[in-house]
Amino acid sequence: MELKTIKGVGAKTEQAFNRAGVYQAEDLIDYYPRYYDTYEAPVLVRDLETDRTQAVFGTVARDIVVRRVKNLTLTEAFIRDANGDSIKCVWFNAPYLKNQLQIGATFVFRGFVKELRQALVIDQPKMFKQDEYNNKMGSMQPVYPLVKGLTNNVVTKAVRDTLEQISKAEFLPQSVRDKYDLLDVKDAVKQIHFPKNTQEFQVARKRFAFEEFFRFINNLQSLKAENEKHKNTHRIEDYTEAENLLNNLPFDLTKAQVNVWNEIKKDMSSDGVMNRLVQGDVGSGKTIVAVLGLLSAAANGYQGAIMAPTEVLAKQHYEGMLELFDDNDIDMNVVMLTGSMTAKEKKEVYEVIESGKANIIVGTHALIQEAVNYKDLALVVTDEQHRFGVRQREAISNKGENPHVLVMSATPIPRTLAIIMYGDLDISIIDEMPAGRLAIGNALVDTSYRPNAYDFIEKQVQAGRQAYIICPTVEYSEAVEGENVIEYAEKLEKIFPPSIKVAYLHGRMKNDEKNKIMDAFARNEIQVLVSTTVVEVGVNVPNATVMMVENAERFGLAQLHQLRGRVGRGSEQSYCIFVDGSKDKIKKERLQVLCNTNDGFKIANEDLKLRGPGDFFGVRQSGDYEFRMGDILNDADVLKQAADSYKMLMEGELPMTDKERKILEEDVIKDLNL
Ligand code: ADP
Ligand code: MG
Repeated sequence: MELKTIKGVGAKTEQAFNRAGVYQAEDLIDYYPRYYDTYEAPVLVRDLETDRTQAVFGTVARDIVVRRVKNLTLTEAFIRDANGDSIKCVWFNAPYLKNQLQIGATFVFRGFVKELRQALVIDQPKMFKQDEYNNKMGSMQPVYPLVKGLTNNVVTKAVRDTLEQISKAEFLPQSVRDKYDLLDVKDAVKQIHFPKNTQEFQVARKRFAFEEFFRFINNLQSLKAENEKHKNTHRIEDYTEAENLLNNLPFDLTKAQVNVWNEIKKDMSSDGVMNRLVQGDVGSGKTIVAVLGLLSAAANGYQGAIMAPTEVLAKQHYEGMLELFDDNDIDMNVVMLTGSMTAKEKKEVYEVIESGKANIIVGTHALIQEAVNYKDLALVVTDEQHRFGVRQREAISNKGENPHVLVMSATPIPRTLAIIMYGDLDISIIDEMPAGRLAIGNALVDTSYRPNAYDFIEKQVQAGRQAYIICPTVEYSEAVEGENVIEYAEKLEKIFPPSIKVAYLHGRMKNDEKNKIMDAFARNEIQVLVSTTVVEVGVNVPNATVMMVENAERFGLAQLHQLRGRVGRGSEQSYCIFVDGSKDKIKKERLQVLCNTNDGFKIANEDLKLRGPGDFFGVRQSGDYEFRMGDILNDADVLKQAADSYKMLMEGELPMTDKERKILEEDVIKDLNL
């Protein structure tokens, strides 16, 4: 249905809606509010609090004042409450209010309360007759995301009108809705836009979160069925080269690594195509397993590619492989492709890739750009998969003709959820750390401990080691509290003797600069690296033994565990110092979990237990897995229900009609926001 057919929507409004991504009336159904405004009971003037929206029932006490300030008209009224206390209300450019605001007129004045010259004022309140306000009280008014040309009123009316005229098709089979007490789509839509109370909102939100997960699972499972049909056209049977390399490595693979490597070999030499996830905690040694696979693909005459989420990590893989192959006299052409390369550099790499002169290709998202044509891609690896979507994983695999797919992740989510989220893949687990690793020593401290920490770092550096210090922000800002990288690095330069080189790293730096700093740190030309979480994923500098995290309370547990994974990667004892910048007991307890265990899965489980159910939009914390409504951690139960019900439907334990089945089959859209 065209937008213009909605009451009150003309050409201008239509254009504004287009800018907001709404092209037809149907889109409005899915145009969810950002949050809801609840009309609370009016309060007395003496109970007003600054910086929030509140309402006062009051009587206009004096003649109003209309003044001109610069080029604005300012309307001011004093209102008095039942207790006789008064407060000023101010409006800009609203001289017409004069008629309404006669002395003695009573209204509920509702607006944002703020402090102006040491007194509270209500800023541009809206006025309601008392019974009008009573009607609204306890209701939740949707507040929609807006763009220029749209007001909340316009959107609200348009949504209301649309819902009266059209309805959305039901996606979830009846049997599933019955089993899990889910609203039907009609009520859910109504209640997500116009809930009467939080309860109504919650059940509507749950229904949509369920649907989102359910569709995700439906898509993954079809992908799986599709992949299972593929025949192996890149049979990799000769593993001499990889086995030679293995024999020359300065270490033995752990038993877990050997098992995974065997599974990979079996997959790649079988009749089918490999689709495998290698899950292993940070530092468990996933890279070498991937390298063995890539080397085998290349040695069998094909190409192999590995995609990493950051340029720093891609570069590290690239250089690591060059060095490894060089040390072991392996003659393979490894090339790198990243976004920050010049057009000319890229073009040269495209050519060696296309001609087949490149055997192994390492890179970032640049690997899936249109201009890249591979010669004969037999294996694609994505590292730190939780940073990519399913779609990007598919995109790289579509660059070849059904290549083998190896996905690596130190999944920061509990295993039960991981099995669902990676439902289209076979899963291998590296559940063992390389021998000789000492457990990381952890300390949770407050800011008064800093001088000791600096002494400690200095001693470690004098013993030849290096340290990371993580700060939550890049530079000083009034708006955000917390330590920042730039000032922190300056401070440390004064504290440490000049022999200790301090540098900083953050995401806003140019890729070139970042690479330079990381290289210098890897070569121990920099001893103390002050950084934002850009070093979070994958970075491997085994000589670094101290990880100090400032404002640890500001990070998620899974993220802190990833950060901690940057140390303890060599044979030296490593340490992690979490500095709690808050004085909050609950936050401290949460951080304590990290000190109690170094096991990523245990931490993910604890993290899950410590969360209450998320109540509103915008509380999604497991940001690496983006869903619109659901959050895989906060809504873990819903995710499991969706997975269970899907399985039951497929196995016939829950019935569905032919029509319902058809809807599921037709939903396998490649552009679902996966
Ligand atoms: P992650 O699983 O986090 O990607 P990496 O693959 O980067 O971990 O490995 C971390 C470090 O452990 C690297 O320096 C790597 O060379 C080393 N390593 C890997 N496997 C072993 C092993 N079996 N024994 C000793 N060290 C190993
Ligand atoms: Mg890694």
